[in-house]
Amino acid sequence: MTHPKTLYCIDLDGTLVKGHLHNYLMMNCLEKCSNKLTYNFLQDFQRGLREPALMKELFEVLHKNGQPIAITTFSSFPEVIPIILSEIGLSEDVIASIHVVHGLAHKLGPPGKNGHIQQAKKHFQLGHDIPCLLIDDDVSNTNYAKQSGHSIIHANPFGPTFVDEIGKLLCQFRSDVIKSEFN
Ligand SMILES: [Mg+2]
Repeated sequence: MTHPKTLYCIDLDGTLVKGHLHNYLMMNCLEKCSNKLTYNFLQDFQRGLREPALMKELFEVLHKNGQPIAITTFSSFPEVIPIILSEIGLSEDVIASIHVVHGLAHKLGPPGKNGHIQQAKKHFQLGHDIPCLLIDDDVSNTNYAKQSGHSIIHANPFGPTFVDEIGKLLCQFRSDVIKSEFN
């Protein structure tokens, strides 16, 4: 592995999906029916998967390079995350390697996703010196992460920067492969 170990933390609502799955399930789940509702939600183009081909490539490249990956979400429905990952097209192996940290920030302590990042680091037994990249559509989450010294990609819903930034990240991994072939 030539790419330095980094914890990759990826948000769910607004980032992996365009809409807000947590709110949708809260409004519609009268009993435990979240799987069927999740499929309904994903079928709606307006709120379904966001850039699934790009995100599939990202997850697979990170997994292949042995990078720790966490889904860091405020959602109260972590049980539907494997459905999202499977609909993106990821294999069971990749899905099983992804750690989920869910729940609201105040329950975890630090603001934004910083508590989620800490928990993910603990899960993967990563030291404080291991860098983290947060990919999240909420600018307050990315600001809190920046203030704590983490790298960020703002999954801006109103501009092309998200796709560009993920593309640049993938290019870094591709250039690592090229460099290692020449060395
Ligand atoms: Mg979000």
